[in-house]
Formats: sequence, C-alpha cells, structure tokens
Amino acid sequence: MDKLARMRELNALLDKASAAYYNTGEEIMSDHEYDALYDELEALEKETGIVLSGSRTQKVGFEPASSLKKVRHESKMLSLDKTKSVDELVSWLGDRKGFLSWKLDGLTLVLTYENGVLVQAVTRGNGEVGEDITANALHMKGIPARIPFAGRLVVRGESLITYKDFEKVNSTAEEGAKYKNPRNLCAGTVRNLDPRVTAERGVNFFAFNLVSADGVDENSFAARLEWLGKMGFQTVYGVITDSAGIREAVEKFEGMIAENEFPSDGLVLMLDDVAYGLSLGETSHAPRNGIAFKWRDETADTKLIRVEWSASRTGLLNPVAVFEPVELEGTTVSRALVHNVSIVKQLRLGEGDTVSVYKANMIIPQILENKTASGRLEIPEKCPVCGGKTEIKSSEDGVETLVCTEPSCAAKHIGKFEHFVQRDAMNIVGMSTATIEALVSEGCISSYRDFYHLSAHKDKVTALEGFGEKSYAKLIEAIEASRHTELSRVLYAIGIPNIGRAASRLICAVYRTAEELPGLTAEQLTAIDGIGEVLAGEYVRFFSDEASLREYRELVAELDIVQAAEVDTESGIAGKTFVITGSVTMWKNRNELKSFIEQNGGKVASSVSAKTDYLINNDPASGSTKNKTAKSLGVSIITEEEFRSLLNNMG
Ligand SMILES: [Zn+2]
Repeated sequence: MDKLARMRELNALLDKASAAYYNTGEEIMSDHEYDALYDELEALEKETGIVLSGSRTQKVGFEPASSLKKVRHESKMLSLDKTKSVDELVSWLGDRKGFLSWKLDGLTLVLTYENGVLVQAVTRGNGEVGEDITANALHMKGIPARIPFAGRLVVRGESLITYKDFEKVNSTAEEGAKYKNPRNLCAGTVRNLDPRVTAERGVNFFAFNLVSADGVDENSFAARLEWLGKMGFQTVYGVITDSAGIREAVEKFEGMIAENEFPSDGLVLMLDDVAYGLSLGETSHAPRNGIAFKWRDETADTKLIRVEWSASRTGLLNPVAVFEPVELEGTTVSRALVHNVSIVKQLRLGEGDTVSVYKANMIIPQILENKTASGRLEIPEKCPVCGGKTEIKSSEDGVETLVCTEPSCAAKHIGKFEHFVQRDAMNIVGMSTATIEALVSEGCISSYRDFYHLSAHKDKVTALEGFGEKSYAKLIEAIEASRHTELSRVLYAIGIPNIGRAASRLICAVYRTAEELPGLTAEQLTAIDGIGEVLAGEYVRFFSDEASLREYRELVAELDIVQAAEVDTESGIAGKTFVITGSVTMWKNRNELKSFIEQNGGKVASSVSAKTDYLINNDPASGSTKNKTAKSLGVSIITEEEFRSLLNNMG
C-alpha cells in the first residue's frame, strides 16, 4: 500500500474509533492500539510532508464566523462554453490531445497554499468576487491541510456532497427545511458560518485544475492533476483522449452516470497542452482552453393521466406525474417526480394536459413544461396511504410540500422499514428504499407484519415500475428466507433507539425467547455486562408503548426464530479470555474466530490486560503494542495452530 493510501486508512480508523467512543462510549480499540496508529500517522505525515484534511494529528478549530469575508479573484473566473453535440467536441479538439472528465455539480472553490499550508479558500461567487470559506475548507475530505510543496499553489476544484449524504441530511431535516438537490445542500453547507456543519455533513473536494504552482513546469493538464493527487488532493476522474477516441470515451462516462455517487451535470474537455491552451486566450465570456459538454435532453410530448402522491423516506407525500408511456433515451417512461406542491402549482398541472417530458442528466424523468396548463389538479385533502387528513406546509423560502397529519401514518415510517430490512437486521435481500416507498404508497405495507403478507398484494406489486413476475418471485423468496432468523436480529430490526447489533446480541445471549424480551425490566437489563442505564431505559420505554408491543408480537408470530448455537461450557477454553491480533488464516477472519471462541464458552477482549489468558497472534515475534503488553504482563502468546491444539488437549 502506498503511503498516501495508508494515511487515508489510518485517518479513517482513528476517526471511527473516536466517533464510536464519543457516540456510544464503546471502545473499538484499546488506547494502546489507538496510540500506535496515531504515532504511525504522525510519522507518515512527517515523512511525506502531507497532512490530509481532518487528520487526527491536527487540532482544527470549529470557530464559527460572524460573516463570510468577500474576496476578489485574482483573475476573473469565466465559465466554459457548452455544447450538447459530440461532433462539436470532436471538431473542437482537432488533432490535439484532450483531458475529458466529469463536470461536477457542486460549488466551485479556489484554494491557495503558501509554504505548504492552505492560506485561503474562496468560492467562485459571481466569478469576480467570492467568499472566504477557509475555515470550512479545512474540514473537507480531499483538501490536505499541509502539503510537501513550499511554493505558492493555486488550485481550482469542486466541493460536493454525495447523493447518499444528501439523502441522509434530508431524511433528518425538518419538514420545509429540506434541500432540493445535493448542489443546494453543498452550497448551504460550504457557506455555513459554523465549520462543524461542513465536518458533519461530509463535504468532499475534487481538484479539477492546477492553476499555478511556482516552479512546477509540467505542461500536461492530466499530469498536473496527477501531481496534485500526490500532494494529497482528491482529483476529478478523467481520461486522456483524442478526437478519434472521444465518442467512445463519452459513451463510457454515460455508462457510469447511474453508478456515480457524486452529482455531475455533464463532462469537461480541456486541452492537455496547458501552455498552448492558455495562449489561445479567451472570448469576452469564456476561456478557449476547454469546453463543457452537456447531455442532450431528449424531450417528448405526452398526456398526463394523473398525479399520484407517493410516500418518501423524507416523510413527505411527493407528487408523481403519471403519463401515457413515451420513449426517452432508449427507454419507456411513464412517470416523473414533480418534487413538491409548489412545482405542481407552477406547472399548472391538470389531468389530460399535454406535457413535455425529458430525462434530467439522462436518468431522471422530469416535466419540462405543461403545454395545456389547465391548473385543474386538486391537492388531495386525504392521505393516500392512511386516509388521514393532509396539510400543506410552507418552508421559509416558500416551497410548499404535502404531509400527512396522522403520526402513525406509514408514510412517515419509511426510515423504520429501511432499517428493518437491512442486512444486519432481517436481511430481506433486494428490498430497496425505492421499493419500500412504492409499497408503502400503495398501501401494501404499514407494519412489519405486512412484509410477510405481500403475496396478498401480488397484483399491486407486479404492477410497480420495474417489477415483473420474476422480480416479484425473487422478492417473495427473500422475504420467506428472512422468516428463519435469530432472535438478536429481530431485536435489532425493530429499531429500539440505541439498541444496536452488539447490544441485541448481549441481551439475546441471556434471554433467549421472543416471548420474554418485552417483559424485561431495567434491572434485568443492566445486570447484563455491557448494557447501561440509557440503553435499558430506551428498551423498557419501547416495549411499554402498546403499538410497538403489538407490532413486535405480530411480527414474531410470522417468524421461525432459530436459536443461535448453544454455548459449550464444557469445552477446554470455557471461561478463558482471549485477545486476537493480526491476520488469521485458519478462520475466515477475526470475527469468525471470535464467534468460535464464544460458542465454546471463551471470551474475547479487545485489549490485553492482566485478565487476559492468551493472546492469539500468528506472528509472535511482531513488535505490536499488544505483543509488547502481553509480554510485559506474562500473557501467553499463541498462534492459531497452537490455539487449536490447546482446544483439543483441554477438551
Ligand atoms: Zn397518512
């Protein structure tokens, strides 16, 4: 592994350990281990001269600013000319080499480094004047805090929030305070006065242009980005191409759109010969060294059949336009998200209207315009999911959304169902968020039990977009398979606040039947090693709620709960405490070895102490902290093989 990759890994490990400790009080590594990783990171930082953003070795403050300082750009930041035609890209490039990359859809930043330190980060603003967001930039992933280059360095790049993080923020944001798209969220975050917000929401930075670096005379656009990569920056994905290869390259990008976790709104083609590109100068409105490519939006006219109000994980009822099927970009489309009540009103939608539809960024069907604009559509007063009363809410900036006023409405609990089907929980393979949203909207699912009676709604399910007999059968198969499960999974799946996978296992190791779980008292729970008062409190509160209890009982009645393997208290290692370190070979991984030990009545601790009986380590000569501690405490260090023979001899 190269040093930069190892530094990224160390940062991630240290982050995880301190986050776990901070959030749950759980120690996922010992202090010794933590210190060893920290020391390794510090040494690598010294050696490479690079300090990655958010590095644990740095104490970057979270001083909120009172306002953002305006900064004038040294040179005006113009946007590139755009085209929607690949032919135009081909003729534009001529016989030169070009660098084709994503056109990232976030907020553009200009970073300046001096003496290896980030001195300023400024937003693009209006191209002439931007805002100083340096305090926030230090908390973005992909911006090194320190680099091994002393000269003055100016870099342009895009700050971005992934679709996933966007969903996450929106799912917890209050009604009316949700963001329209990742770009809006990113702009709001990067320009927030409190740097903590940037750190929490996970903003990424991708460098897309090395503007200047004193003394670096590399002239290839792509090679300059590569150099930035070596300095610790995240850089935009792109390929070198020529006019003969552009078409294929554009197609490749097209094929990657659906998988791309970062929002993009097209491609950028830059001349790879930087000096030549700059010598071309600029027109009054755009530089001549590059060109932007937008996906051509194919549009089609069709007739609006109706608007459905669909439950979404944001807890809102979102309008979906259903129209007569049309062909767009090679697929048949019959539905488009209309996002909110305001847009329904702006478009003046009505049944039977002629609407023009397109696919935004080639994937998401949207209504471009309503040619009839009858405005006949009525916003439903009854919730289509539960029949309760609906309400239109208005956000601060005037965006209207529809919500159900019924607290128990399934439309508000999609997040709960999402958790329920997770791999670690009931493990219903193939049950995606989109499917859950659709099933809830169709009234097929309003409680856990309903998952096990989906076949009663076969017609509705097979009629869902993207669903056929085959996918229906597969889904039912996955649901049936999930009936055979372990109690600890069920306890975890029902989503009691703070009761994670580990706590569920601890509880179910002591109380082993589904019947006794709801009746456990706080005293019984806190008597279990590893269960504290907070967890016990949440647990008891959950089951004292009648609706929760009923839902649990109805669920359990559907399941065939198998006992986890009985713990063998007679084995040779029963009662002994082990610590495992390094990689294992006889078991698939350390976790498997750990469960094996536990099933045989042993215990596994995370750090070596005087209570440890054995340290399992295949490299007894290694200089790791655990080995050193074991030696100093006189704890036996054994290999996996020795562990096995130990088991045989004693057993
Ligand atoms: Zn409702």
